[in-house]
Amino acid sequence: MDCLFCKIIAGEIPSAKVYEDEHCYAFKDVSPQTPSHVLIVPKKHVSGLNDTELLPDDSLAACVRAAAKVAKQEGLTQGYRLVSNCGPHACQSVQHLHFHVLGGRQMEGKMG
Ligand code: AMP
Repeated sequence: MDCLFCKIIAGEIPSAKVYEDEHCYAFKDVSPQTPSHVLIVPKKHVSGLNDTELLPDDSLAACVRAAAKVAKQEGLTQGYRLVSNCGPHACQSVQHLHFHVLGGRQMEGKMG
């Protein structure tokens, strides 16, 4: 399958690893939008939030639980955002489920 994040998980494309367990892989976003910007992806390919029924519950839970581990590792003591863009209105650009962990500065209250 020609999927960028599958290739990163397989080590075929380099990435800056932050965290890994049996279900998920976390790495620095190549184009950070905040001082700390990490992507968490399930190792099993699913295209996005609309396909989570194809992902075992423990894998989905592992991705969400990884956020706190990543945040701790990144020193985000003042908080962070966990975001998953789904579909064109949300500007999803990679069709492999992923969660952005964004932090390291004060954010605006408005999210949209
Ligand atoms: P999204 O727009 O929500 O689909 O997020 C995709 C993210 O993947 C963007 O923030 C990109 O900067 C990031 N990205 C694209 N290619 C790479 C790469 N090779 N390594 C790390 N992050 C990447």
